[in-house]
Amino acid sequence: MGRYIDAVCRLCRRQGEKLFLKGTKCQTEKCPIAKRAYPPGQHGQGRRQKLSNYGLQLKEKQKVKRIYGVFEKQFRKYFKIASKTKGVTGKVLLQLLERRLDNVVFRMGLGISRSQARQIVRHNMVAVNSRRVNIPSYLVAKDDVVEIKTKDKAKIKIKDNLELSKDRTVPSWLEFAPGEMKGKVLRLPEKNDIQQPISEQLIVELYSK
Ligand code: SF4
Repeated sequence: MGRYIDAVCRLCRRQGEKLFLKGTKCQTEKCPIAKRAYPPGQHGQGRRQKLSNYGLQLKEKQKVKRIYGVFEKQFRKYFKIASKTKGVTGKVLLQLLERRLDNVVFRMGLGISRSQARQIVRHNMVAVNSRRVNIPSYLVAKDDVVEIKTKDKAKIKIKDNLELSKDRTVPSWLEFAPGEMKGKVLRLPEKNDIQQPISEQLIVELYSK
């Protein structure tokens, strides 16, 4: 299965809420969900959703996968790790997703969206503890130092991203110095570090069947 290439705003409309997949556009009135808050397609406006409990669980899982840009196989892998880890499974699951390197690059404002942050990582522009890492799913740990390591020309684009993301708050589990394009993981993320509302318990129920 390939990566989703259709208009990503349709994913938000299908979900019925903002998933913030497009970066700056999401904060403006150009966001389609503000104008057309109903599912996409010919019959979108007439479609009424009465979801069963299973439907709700499935919908929540899709939402989280879409937010973090993760496929089913990897998502299941995260769930498996979370269920074997000491602690509350749902919270560990969210922590694993939040610790992804592409998410950290996004959260620091170095990319305007998670998909752009993923590109920045893939293009070998990011170093963790002074070693280049080009794997978006790489999981950061406490005390890791994440920085941009690239040619000056590419840094101009990242500077633009920082400017466009300046209204976004860097979460308190990360420390970030925009001038140096460098940050540190102060602690592991908690559920309340995630801004978007997520009912992780629904996902745990779904996979525990
Ligand atoms: Fe979703 Fe952003 Fe598109 Fe709005 S602009 S529908 S929040 S991706």
